[in-house]
Amino acid sequence: MSVIRENLQVVRRAIVDAADSVQRDVHGIELLAVSKTFGADAVITAVEAGQNAFGENYLQEALEKISTVRAKRPDLNLEWHFIGPIQSNKTRAIAENFDWVHSVDRIKIAQRLSEQRPARLPPLNICLQVNISGEASKSGLLPDDVLRVAQEIADLPRLRLRGLMAIPEPEGNAEQQRAPFREMRALLEKLRAAGLQLDTLSMGMSSDMPAAIAEGATIVRIGSAIFGTRGYAK
Ligand SMILES: *Cc1c(COP(=O)(O)O)cnc(C)c1O
Repeated sequence: MSVIRENLQVVRRAIVDAADSVQRDVHGIELLAVSKTFGADAVITAVEAGQNAFGENYLQEALEKISTVRAKRPDLNLEWHFIGPIQSNKTRAIAENFDWVHSVDRIKIAQRLSEQRPARLPPLNICLQVNISGEASKSGLLPDDVLRVAQEIADLPRLRLRGLMAIPEPEGNAEQQRAPFREMRALLEKLRAAGLQLDTLSMGMSSDMPAAIAEGATIVRIGSAIFGTRGYAK
């Protein structure tokens, strides 16, 4: 059995355990396999082990991988999520090739994605990235700005605003890890109370997934626990 297949089983088991421990229905949690730095063959192996949704950070790498996977396996209908930083000159390729974008943190980027989303495709699913740990260097909206930006983006015709995404500062233990995820949940509730129809909290990575699930994550983004340690030389 391949390592990727085995890892996927372990990760799926961990998601079930995390959901059980807080009495959540596991069907409300989607596993996004973060395949950045790994090639098309790794993606296809994961697909053969039942994985359908993949996350990518680097546009050029992602575009090559998507087209290689399509050429090798035209029968597959995969879901591609862009989760990396977005430069405004890259929005067209993102709008044309992805199903979801988790890392929107500026109105201008959202407007471009909406304008550039091809009419033949369904609306692009969007999450607003929140700088929940308040780090100066990190991308993401400050929590106080999220409602205003969400309200401006919600009506863009070719987007569907789904919810919020965060990458909190790494914390040691599970209890500490839960604090920023709890703030994310509260922020989503605030947006819903203001009338926005949102259903997504994209949070939790290999090292903090159970804490994120305990606080309501609906998409967990898992890379190294599935594909192994990333070698950035690739
Ligand atoms: C790389 C990455 C992940 C996956 O991280 P792992 O620690 O490998 O699980 C998730 N989300 C984002 C935004 C990433 O860049």
